[in-house]
Amino acid sequence: MTAKPLPGQPHFAYRGEELYVEDLRLDDLARQHGTPLFVYSKAAMLAALAAYQRGFAGRRAQICYAMKANSSLAVLQVFARAGCGFDIVSGGELERVLAAGGDVAKVIFSGVGKTRAEMRRALDAGIGCFNVESEAELEVLNEVALAAGRRAPVSIRVNPNVDAKTHPYISTGLKGNKFGIAHERTLATYQRAAALPGLQVVGIDCHIGSQITQEAPYLDAMDRVLDLVQAIEAAGIPLHHIDFGGGLGIDYNGDTPPPADALWAKLLAKLDARGYGQRQLMIEPGRSLVGNAGVCLTEVLYLKPGEQKNFCIVDAAMNDLPRPAMYEAYHQIVPLAPRAGKAGLWDVVGPVCESGDWLGRDRALHVQPGDRLAVLSAGAYCMSMASNYNTRGRAAEILVDGDQAHLIRRRETPADTFQLEKLL
Ligand SMILES: *Cc1c(COP(=O)(O)O)cnc(C)c1O
Repeated sequence: MTAKPLPGQPHFAYRGEELYVEDLRLDDLARQHGTPLFVYSKAAMLAALAAYQRGFAGRRAQICYAMKANSSLAVLQVFARAGCGFDIVSGGELERVLAAGGDVAKVIFSGVGKTRAEMRRALDAGIGCFNVESEAELEVLNEVALAAGRRAPVSIRVNPNVDAKTHPYISTGLKGNKFGIAHERTLATYQRAAALPGLQVVGIDCHIGSQITQEAPYLDAMDRVLDLVQAIEAAGIPLHHIDFGGGLGIDYNGDTPPPADALWAKLLAKLDARGYGQRQLMIEPGRSLVGNAGVCLTEVLYLKPGEQKNFCIVDAAMNDLPRPAMYEAYHQIVPLAPRAGKAGLWDVVGPVCESGDWLGRDRALHVQPGDRLAVLSAGAYCMSMASNYNTRGRAAEILVDGDQAHLIRRRETPADTFQLEKLL
């Protein structure tokens, strides 16, 4: 039987009239484990990683998976075994890296609001680098390091002031947002860092946004960062590594981001041209490693046709898939076993008591109650953002490897959702 791979998600394919992940039929997984259910393809994750690895062949580069995209332990384990480090944004994420067997020396700690306790724990664990995001944080980190009798390895996150041309909520490299140190303040901040006895300057970093689908913002940011590297090193402060962050987009709905290897061929050509090609490089991809490696399976509960809108009510909701409610994000929604016949236009919505609880609007679907659907491109920023709103237990997660399905997180029971609470 010829397989028809889904655009953007080639490890998910129709064989005949049924949707498969690698060698397993998704409907079988849904029957066995219930819905909503997240299903990830290990091969898809490793293929996404391989595109970066090809791009960096022959270079000194460390890929640090930005784990907030999907921080499930088994997912971290896949990337740790493949040699990745991790970009973390909280002390909780550090504990996950340790629990998954990751190499703490390959961990970089980003984020604008690190607490003293988080800094201390990361120092004691032997973290690779702190990506410092403000001058105030630099002073606090110095104090914490001195109190611990250590020197904290630091890189300063600079804000290159380039427009990543993405959704305002996921654009981070413009002047008006809370991330990084302003371009003009960078040299002074490095001079301060170099003078503080509890700090060891090791690098520079930037991260301009997420779901970036064009090359130009990356090329512009690289030029801006290299200008700074030049100025900082001219001031006598050597930088061991340059970290270009993450942000590469994926194909949600006909988006055409450059493949990671093609993007890096261009970026490396620029680095070479400017004489930095042999520098230790770091990158922090999140979404592009996992986003199209996962889907969320859901069952149609009710059809509610109306005068203005037809609603297709499914058992997954905004607590499982927060991106549409949060960013008006688009996820394709497809049937696991398409029916013959004419499709209607449906708003696919969940059971949560919010009008914002929608997964897709005006979708052409031919469905009946009991049919199962796959919400595509659900590997990134879905389960890691999931909540228990409406006392809905979070979904189970399956990681597929060929013809093997591993349950990597069981479904939460109602008791799980209130186990930390106490009656008066
Ligand atoms: C979120 C984040 C990333 C990853 O972004 P993606 O768009 O998922 O690749 C990388 N670095 C930092 C500092 C981040 O906050």
